[in-house]
Amino acid sequence: MKKALVCGGGGFIGHHLARRLKNEGYWVRSVDLKYPEYSAKDEVDDFVIGDLRDPNVWVKILDRDFDEVYQLAADMGGAGFVFTGENDADIMHNSALINLNCLYYLKEIKFKGKVFYSSSACIYPEYKQTDPNNPGLKESDAYPAGPDSEYGWEKLFSERMYLAFNRNYRINVRIARFHNIFGPEGTYEGGREKAPAALCRKVALAKDGEEIEIWGDGEQTRSFLYIDDALEGVRKLMDSDFLGPINIGSEELISINSLAKMIMEIAGKNLKLKHISGPTGVRGRNADLTLARQKINWEPKISLRQGIEKTYHWIAEQLKKQRRI
Ligand code: NAD
Repeated sequence: MKKALVCGGGGFIGHHLARRLKNEGYWVRSVDLKYPEYSAKDEVDDFVIGDLRDPNVWVKILDRDFDEVYQLAADMGGAGFVFTGENDADIMHNSALINLNCLYYLKEIKFKGKVFYSSSACIYPEYKQTDPNNPGLKESDAYPAGPDSEYGWEKLFSERMYLAFNRNYRINVRIARFHNIFGPEGTYEGGREKAPAALCRKVALAKDGEEIEIWGDGEQTRSFLYIDDALEGVRKLMDSDFLGPINIGSEELISINSLAKMIMEIAGKNLKLKHISGPTGVRGRNADLTLARQKINWEPKISLRQGIEKTYHWIAEQLKKQRRI
């Protein structure tokens, strides 16, 4: 039986990944500061509550031979967390420390398996993302570097560190750049939620004819990838010989205004959009999946509309359970 360690297994992508690995027959240990918010901790074989900034935690969790380590733990959130500037020091310090520990201790135990690192589309330079009709960011667009957030700079530094440990210590790394992953069982309020979940919540809470707030003019564009497609991409990358970095995203570009309208249609509500000032990030971001098709034979299968339907209904259901709608 293969053994996998999922760091950040209490988070959105991490707990979905841990569940998938269990379904594939792996023995799974998850590690996080917290249990998953919306699923049982005993879905995995062992759930360790621990702070991955602490070296002692790494010594404890690497007590057996893992075939695969998935490093998803990071201090992160949506635009309201990452782009205000207020959390920059913590984001850089906490996430870098986790990655420094991860690689150092894998080197120390002479790790022979594969380690997956979750980088981000936020590493791409701002100057390539000024046009809402973004043609799609290729992996090679990362340099000359110029991310628009400290979150992106930490991810870029850590990507390079994973590659350096590969070159110098033969650590077998795989690096994906996730582009806006969304789906059910993700954070939808509290300040760390991302645009799709935040908009689903706003639409679900509003009564027909009311208005919902949109940060900026809403003409900023993004592409969003449904969680099941993201996990398939991660697993294909891990099973391939390609180290990455590689985009795991979608090429279906949409403006935030159009996304809000799509959610209104799904909800059967007619709402007004009230544009207010707020952190919006870059003007236009899309993924180019040419390399993913070539190297790992992967592309998304679930359309944005299908994914948003599932996500909206899940969030509306949570709000109903809390008697808020
Ligand atoms: P998430 O915030 O839901 O999950 C991250 C998890 O890391 C959280 O459960 C958090 O508690 C845990 N964590 C943070 N600090 C920790 C620490 N010191 N010790 C132990 N655990 C700690 O985020 P997610 O959306 O599941 O993202 C997973 C990974 O993918 C992250 O590295 C993120 O940067 C990356 N990523 C995600 C997206 C996306 O759209 N969701 C896009 C690009 C990159």
